Amino acid sequence: MVFEILKAKNMPELPEVQTIVDDLNRKIKGDTIVDFWSDWPKAIKGVNLKKFEAEIKGKKILKAWRIGKNMFVDLSGGKTIYIHLKMTGHLLIRTQDTKNKIQKNKNYFNDRVNQYIHHIWKLKSGKTLEFSDLRKFAKMVLVDTDKVMELPEIKKLGVDAMSKEFTLEKFRELLQKRQNKKIGLVLMEQELIAGIGNIYRSEILFDAGMHPERSVKYLKKSEVGVLYESILKILKKAIEMRGTSDSDYRDTDGAPGSFGKILKVYRKDGKICSCVRKKKKCDTIIKRIKLGQRSVFFCSECQK
Ligand SMILES: [Zn+2]
Repeated sequence: MVFEILKAKNMPELPEVQTIVDDLNRKIKGDTIVDFWSDWPKAIKGVNLKKFEAEIKGKKILKAWRIGKNMFVDLSGGKTIYIHLKMTGHLLIRTQDTKNKIQKNKNYFNDRVNQYIHHIWKLKSGKTLEFSDLRKFAKMVLVDTDKVMELPEIKKLGVDAMSKEFTLEKFRELLQKRQNKKIGLVLMEQELIAGIGNIYRSEILFDAGMHPERSVKYLKKSEVGVLYESILKILKKAIEMRGTSDSDYRDTDGAPGSFGKILKVYRKDGKICSCVRKKKKCDTIIKRIKLGQRSVFFCSECQK
């Protein structure tokens, strides 16, 4: 427990939230909410527990979607539940099989990380949607579906890193606005590009061979192109691998993501860079520096 408190927690980023969104659409889209339970109503913002419950009961789940690290569940009747997972929040879907513990694979629901259930939605199909959140920082807001974009947290967001709008031209245009900043900081700015956090900025910069402290104004046009490709490549790969379970993030089966197995620099400080260039192993020790409030990890040989 002490270890868990001391270990820095990382918020789920775009790939983790996308994994959960995809799971929700696959497993409970079209289902109906029949009941709701919570022992932490403080997480519900704007309305009290009774009102929240009354508004969502009997409503059909139309679809889940996201912008950056923000998740939305659209319901019938023109309402949407906006969910921010914050540090340790994650959603689990329990089916009759998992309840009876007869699934073939490991039952991840027994893992400790999945034991901090504070909210439960009972669904018509017999499934339950459960919200585990160790730190209890996650929040939910019930909002009119047509007013989602007016939420202050959403309004201020920049372009989503996996959206069609995030083109190379758009990326160049955004960098123009941050000429005097370090690229490692710019990538994390949700008001500019939404979705990239601490884990993926290190991996993206490594993939692009770019030092996190490079000033935006000295980046060559070709380097910006390489970086743009690395953003898309790393995020896409991370979605394919169902995210990174650096701390508490789990998918809706309660299972960890597997991108953690192929991390190149994130939390690898003190370890030797595994990169092979011109048939020669890099062998440089990976470094960690503070950039803004957070650590960034890089190889000084591979990233210039
Ligand atoms: Zn290296």
